[in-house]
Amino acid sequence: MNYSKVVLHSKKESSVLRKHPWIFSGAIKKIEVDNEINDGDIVEVYSDKGQYLATGHFYSGSIAVRIFSFTQSVIHYDFWKQKIQKAYELRKLLGLTHSSATNVYRLVYAEADELPGLIIDFYNGTAVIQCHAVGMHRHIAEFAEILKEIYGERITAVFDKSVETLHSKQSNITNAYLFGNKSENYVTENNLKFYVDWENGQKTGFFIDQRDHRNLLRQYACEKKILNTFCYSGGFSVYALSAGASEVHSVDSSATAIELTNRNIELNGLSNHTSHTEDTLRFLKNSGEYDIVVLDPPAFAKSIKSKHNAIQGYKRLNIAGIEKVKSNGFLFTFSCSQIIDMPLFKGIVTSAAIESGRNIKIIHHLHQPKDHPTSIFHPEGFYLKGLVLYIE
Ligand code: SAH
Repeated sequence: MNYSKVVLHSKKESSVLRKHPWIFSGAIKKIEVDNEINDGDIVEVYSDKGQYLATGHFYSGSIAVRIFSFTQSVIHYDFWKQKIQKAYELRKLLGLTHSSATNVYRLVYAEADELPGLIIDFYNGTAVIQCHAVGMHRHIAEFAEILKEIYGERITAVFDKSVETLHSKQSNITNAYLFGNKSENYVTENNLKFYVDWENGQKTGFFIDQRDHRNLLRQYACEKKILNTFCYSGGFSVYALSAGASEVHSVDSSATAIELTNRNIELNGLSNHTSHTEDTLRFLKNSGEYDIVVLDPPAFAKSIKSKHNAIQGYKRLNIAGIEKVKSNGFLFTFSCSQIIDMPLFKGIVTSAAIESGRNIKIIHHLHQPKDHPTSIFHPEGFYLKGLVLYIE
């Protein structure tokens, strides 16, 4: 197979040699093509001296190549199968593929699984694929076939949910079942039940990445009055009530999210819950105090340009959150913005703490769970961080 060749400028190969999976457009000296090159094409990357470096998908943007192999190979079905199988074996080793307590997990996490631009989440027999790269989407029929082979009877459907992530790059795609069809969308996480709307919900349908932190809240929730802001489908609320919280209030600005929350509270036979379709800051302005407050906002900063505003946003939110925690209570505070790293996040929360005038200790440093690993060569894959604060 003859792939087009992307030749780098002299001395631009060092990041590739360190296994970083992105080639920025500025590093490219020339592209050698037979006919033409299109977004999503497979290309081989070479140094200025003609040394083979890597194989990846081409895209005419700032990240020009997303690398999925550092050894020269012909890319066909078996190549992808071996990659997805490897991701599966890791989840198996991590105790996720055969657990009766939890049947929802991330099977493929992009660069961390050497499949840049590809997310596959497993929801109790339905795999939801979300492509962030045009190149990955070209192989989606193969991925569905591979998932069938790996899971056998344990998989009943594969849903392609790439419209949201690819719409600006590719207009001719639709969200659709690649095999199987809509089933009862119920999953179990740490023995709690959740309804997941992967067809219409946010991201792939459920915030799998907060599993461990929802579980952590259980340890503190008994007999406590809790506020869960940015609740989406009510994960933190369900966990808190199942652990004996005396009262939980859930807040989200989306009415659809509040419907999902109410449904999940009911599904688990829980009570002592109220939900509020409202902006979090507005809710906090008029609310009473709580033993525990959870702040889990969406990413405030999606690019470097919005970093400054994001910092201000996180600070305002944390000041408002700290204010509503009763004496000797806890704040669970998170940021899923990749460009706000842990030291910066801690700095923001510290300045909010200073402004609040209260005495505060960090009890837990939190990060994304084991099925969202970070390739040590691609630190950009680390995005979720959180702190549990004890507030005197
Ligand atoms: N904690 C959730 C995930 C949160 S996702 C879980 O465990 O599942 C972020 C949520 O914030 C989304 O549901 C979104 O609708 C909501 N949101 C975004 N902006 C908001 C705002 N200003 N006020 C309240 N909710 C908001």
